[in-house]
Amino acid sequence: MTIAQKLSFDVQLSDHARTAAEREQVLANPGWGQVFTDHMVSIDFTEGKGWHDARLEAYGPLVLDPATAVFHYAQELFEGLKAYRQANGSIVMFRPYANATRFNRSAQRMAMPELPEETFVESLDLLVNTDKEWVPTAEGHSLYLRPFMIATQPALGVNYPSKTYRYMVIASPAASYFTGGIKPVSVWLSTEYTRAAPGGTGFAKCGGNYAAAFVAQRQAVENGCDQVVWLDAHEHRYVEEMGGMNLFFVIGGKLVTPALTGTLLPGITRDSILELAGDLGLETEERLVSVEEWQAGCESGELTEVFACGTAAVVTPVGTVKGADRSWTIGDGTPGPITMRVREELVGIQYGARPDTHNWVHKIA
Ligand SMILES: *Cc1c(COP(=O)(O)O)cnc(C)c1O
Repeated sequence: MTIAQKLSFDVQLSDHARTAAEREQVLANPGWGQVFTDHMVSIDFTEGKGWHDARLEAYGPLVLDPATAVFHYAQELFEGLKAYRQANGSIVMFRPYANATRFNRSAQRMAMPELPEETFVESLDLLVNTDKEWVPTAEGHSLYLRPFMIATQPALGVNYPSKTYRYMVIASPAASYFTGGIKPVSVWLSTEYTRAAPGGTGFAKCGGNYAAAFVAQRQAVENGCDQVVWLDAHEHRYVEEMGGMNLFFVIGGKLVTPALTGTLLPGITRDSILELAGDLGLETEERLVSVEEWQAGCESGELTEVFACGTAAVVTPVGTVKGADRSWTIGDGTPGPITMRVREELVGIQYGARPDTHNWVHKIA
């Protein structure tokens, strides 16, 4: 349910914000998702009352009853997007309303309350504006934003969803995913485990999907691969996703991506690339792609490139594939020209080097 109401945020600035020198030290080498800015946003929800107590305050730990529903039944969901510092100094986000829409689709699936899209975007604007000195200036760096929602009712009853929730946003400066050039990843085809089944939560961005995926990711690493590739739950035959990213195949010069069957996460990067393809003169196709087609296409030379895409690493080339009984290389194993062209275009729009012809850039400051 969406409760239409205008929330105003109570702003309590931190009395222990880091100094400029401390911040610069972090920004010189931010890593990924380990250091957080000085503030955070919280909004509470109570059944019958709606959203209330919207606030921005000092970043810090939460105190929660051990019986809190999220700890036991994983009623939780999240989003991920970035604030970029553009060449002209402005700070922008990329398609935040698309994240707001997806947040609410995830909320419906997890029996959680929807947050008005305006409030979602306003909460991001407020946090980024307050902590704007934390938006890195180094090339390829950004401020990663993590909105999320947890069930907060302290009760163990499993017959109904929680009656109370908390929405929060935290922010973390992030280095470029690739240090020292774009390097293709190797992938492991998981036939032992499944990420999502029809009717399940595959399309929702919920923590539970990740909890169930770690064992397969560990298996990928044990097999000498960087990332796990998920296949369909019925036959382990059709390609779905790679870790937390969507996949694209270049087949006969056309951009082909697995169709959104309900078990895939509908990536905003994926959607943006499907739209950008037209600008780049590339045809697109959304359909099923089997492992056999992938391997045979590489052997015949018809399938020339594969890349993964998502907010964190933007566009990542895939170089080699390994499964329980086979392995092969895509092209000559190096990043392909279409992969690099798509990457350049998308990064160009995000950082302001290319015109924003699709109206995707949301200016904050
Ligand atoms: C977030 C996510 C993606 C990528 O989505 P973007 O909106 O492009 O960042 C892909 N797959 C999974 C499982 C994800 O959680």
